[in-house]
Amino acid sequence: MGTVGDAANKDTNGSLAEKKPTVVFVLGGPGSGKGTQCANIVQHFGFTHLSAGDLLRAEQKSGSENGTMIQNMIKEGKIVPSEVTIKLLQKAMEESGNDKFLIDGFPRNEENRAAFETVTQIEPAFVLFFDCSEEEMERRLLSRNEGREDDNIETIRKRFKVFLESSLPVIQHYESRGKVRKIDAGRPIEEVFESVKAIFTPKNEKAE
Ligand code: UDP
Ligand code: MG
Repeated sequence: MGTVGDAANKDTNGSLAEKKPTVVFVLGGPGSGKGTQCANIVQHFGFTHLSAGDLLRAEQKSGSENGTMIQNMIKEGKIVPSEVTIKLLQKAMEESGNDKFLIDGFPRNEENRAAFETVTQIEPAFVLFFDCSEEEMERRLLSRNEGREDDNIETIRKRFKVFLESSLPVIQHYESRGKVRKIDAGRPIEEVFESVKAIFTPKNEKAE
C-alpha cells in the first residue's frame, strides 16, 4: 500500500531499508546509563552506536543552519523536530557501512517514532529500556562532568518531565507489542552489563 512516506522516500532511503538493518532502540531517562552501556555493547557485539543527542550536538557545533534552534531545544530539554534528528540518523547509518545499530535516546516521543518508521521503513528488533529512579539519575547527572549545558538541576527537572510525559508512551507502545527488554539500571555498571549481555547473547550460546 502506497503512502506519502513511501513515495517521498523511494530515492533517498531505498538502499538503507533494502539492507534490512537490525535496529535496537536504547531508551531510558536522562542519566540512566544508555551511552555507557552502548559503548559496552559495541565492544562485545559489533553494533554501531548512534546517540541522537550526540549527533544533534555535533550538528549544532558544525555551524549548521539549525544550530541555534538545536542549542535552544537542548538547553530547555525539549525535543528537536523529528525531521532534523531522523536525517542525521539516516546519514550516520548510511555512512557507517554496518547493518547493526544501537539508536540511543531516540525516539523520544510518539511523533519521533511514527516519523522514523514512515521515513526509513525500519522497525526495531527490540527496545532496550534502562529503568532507573529519578533520584539515582539526578545524582549521576549532577556528578558527571561532560560540560553539557543541560546537566544543571533546572534543565534536568525539565528533561525528567519530558521523559515521563513524552518518552514513556513510546516505551509503552513497544511494550504492548512485546518488544521491550527492561533492565534494572540503578545498579553498578558491570552488574547492569551482565543483564544487557544476556539479552544480546543468542540463546543457544548461553552458558548452561
Ligand atoms: N534530543 C532531541 N531528540 C533526540 C535526542 C536528543 O531533541 O532524539 C535533545 C533533547 O533536548 C535532549 C537532549 O538532546 O534533552 C540530550 O539528549 P541525550 O540523549 O544526549 O541525553 P540523555 O538523555 O542521554 O542524558
Ligand atoms: Mg546519552
